Amino acid sequence: MEVVNELQVRGLVVGVFEENCWIIGSPQTHEAICIDPGDEPDEILALAKDMGVTIKLIANSHGHGDHILAVGPVQNATGARFVIHESDMELVHHGWQGMAERYGVKVDVPPPDPSGHIHDGDIIEVAGVRLRVLETPGHTQGSVSYYDNGMLFSGDTLFRGSIGRTDMPGGNFEQEMRSIVEKLLPLPDDTIVMPGHMDQSTIGFERQHNPFILEWLQKTRS
Ligand SMILES: [Zn+2]
Ligand SMILES: [Zn+2]
Repeated sequence: MEVVNELQVRGLVVGVFEENCWIIGSPQTHEAICIDPGDEPDEILALAKDMGVTIKLIANSHGHGDHILAVGPVQNATGARFVIHESDMELVHHGWQGMAERYGVKVDVPPPDPSGHIHDGDIIEVAGVRLRVLETPGHTQGSVSYYDNGMLFSGDTLFRGSIGRTDMPGGNFEQEMRSIVEKLLPLPDDTIVMPGHMDQSTIGFERQHNPFILEWLQKTRS
């Protein structure tokens, strides 16, 4: 188990797209935020139980099907609130159906309407766990990242050595690069990056090694 600033943080890889679902819990209050419950709700609930926490808030980085298909079951089991950026509401309502059909993903409980929308600078919190919302559009128009001292949940905006694809509806490469450079790179180098797919990283590693960032900076500075 990873302990960052006295919070318990654990990730779980779920679904056919191997999406990272994250649970951030307080060992003091036993309340937790769950980011991107994309599939395998039973495993997500088992992880929360193993951590000794109750999921009180589901916060999504964006509305793609691989990040959202367990929101309904996890909410039904826990009564957690659900927040997402309003620009991804079309994805919440309809975007996942094609993916579920193509990949044979069974969806018993469709993604619910959110309890609220989030905007740049908002603080989302449960007892003992606070995260700040950073709007980082580009992968989708409603893509956000969540940050607290020392850790960044970057969704499909920033990956280790890569970035999220921008060739799907709502995607915009230049916008995504601006989001990364203007919103994420200013964070401290030792910030742990916990992305929506693949391995963890740090802001310092990405600043030095991410080829998309290096090329963008070179292009925009010349
Ligand atoms: Zn995505
Ligand atoms: Zn994804």
